[in-house]
Amino acid sequence: MQIFILLYADDIILMSNCPNDLQSQINVIQKYFESADLQVNLGKTKTMIINSGNQPITNFYWNGEFIEQKSNSALTQLMQTVADSRVKDIDISRRLFDALVTSIPMYAFPIWGMKFVDKLEKLQTRCLRWLTGSSTYTPGHILRLETGWVSTKLIICKSILTTICNVALKPSSTEEAKSCLKFLIREENHDHVINQWKHFFEEYNLSADFMDLIQDYTIKRHNDIIGKYAQALLNDDVSRMITINYNNIAEIKSHAIKDQIYTSNLSWPMKRFWQNMRLQEPRVWTGRKCTNLGEMYNKWNRHRNKPAQNCKCGHRVEDLFHVMIECNIYNTIRNSEIKVIKLNSITRSNFHHLFYKPDHINEFYTYWKLAMEQRDKPHY
Ligand SMILES: [Zn+2]
Repeated sequence: MQIFILLYADDIILMSNCPNDLQSQINVIQKYFESADLQVNLGKTKTMIINSGNQPITNFYWNGEFIEQKSNSALTQLMQTVADSRVKDIDISRRLFDALVTSIPMYAFPIWGMKFVDKLEKLQTRCLRWLTGSSTYTPGHILRLETGWVSTKLIICKSILTTICNVALKPSSTEEAKSCLKFLIREENHDHVINQWKHFFEEYNLSADFMDLIQDYTIKRHNDIIGKYAQALLNDDVSRMITINYNNIAEIKSHAIKDQIYTSNLSWPMKRFWQNMRLQEPRVWTGRKCTNLGEMYNKWNRHRNKPAQNCKCGHRVEDLFHVMIECNIYNTIRNSEIKVIKLNSITRSNFHHLFYKPDHINEFYTYWKLAMEQRDKPHY
């Protein structure tokens, strides 16, 4: 039996992939404690299940005494937190997910190795489905693109590079640590952690960059490779988004995927803006129910029972069309920012056509940012 043990000062963490194995590990440690006349504070001892899947929850015992469970699972705990706090913002939920769920396996990832990379991404997808109220068939790449969440793989990428920087790049790091790293790089055994990390970058053809980085230990390349990795993750999602055969999946069919948004040369904040605005277009959200089939953001709003925002002018719904075209509160910035609107006579029917043109998105983006700033100031 192998015991994975993480020691920090007088704290001990035991980890296992299998409940029976964990109980055996606990028993071994317990016998050792007994023989060494050591005491454990059971009140401060907890078990935590990171992803139970469909497995029944197991109880664990220390010398016959029940060890308290921190939560059924990290994801359940997150869902509880989000529900209790009535968080409506999907970005705040993302930060909660990273803090409450991702951080747990990440804490010990040099020991786990790369065993849980895919599981962690699946967990993220599950969380996104729950947050957006989407069906179990909605693929992860769509959820990530629609909500602007980056795959948890990027956090793992950063974590690997930070670990290497801490070992080899910091002025305070010792010669022993550096030579240990150098030894592992040359090591033929393919199971060790550096090789697992190398394979992790291989998926996006970045293993050569990774090996170069750890051999010349330059901090600049560290940021380079994170940037490359983030771009590769994004490209991967985008290519899946535009090549997928979505005829059989109602969820995606209703989505009216716009290839042009993701393949355009626009910057990512602008792509996000375009997509968000498209999903919140006025004909979709009427304040009470969705009139369209089920776009993410409306599902998100409906799921959270968020009422439609009343405009400060008194209009019932402060929707895209209202803010962009109708409302006199926004007249001044509209006249100064949007040349497109001044040049054309905009009606409800040609508004969408106009809005979907990539050439115009810059103006709309600037306008929308200013309008949102103005919205948050008091109106007189
Ligand atoms: Zn208004």
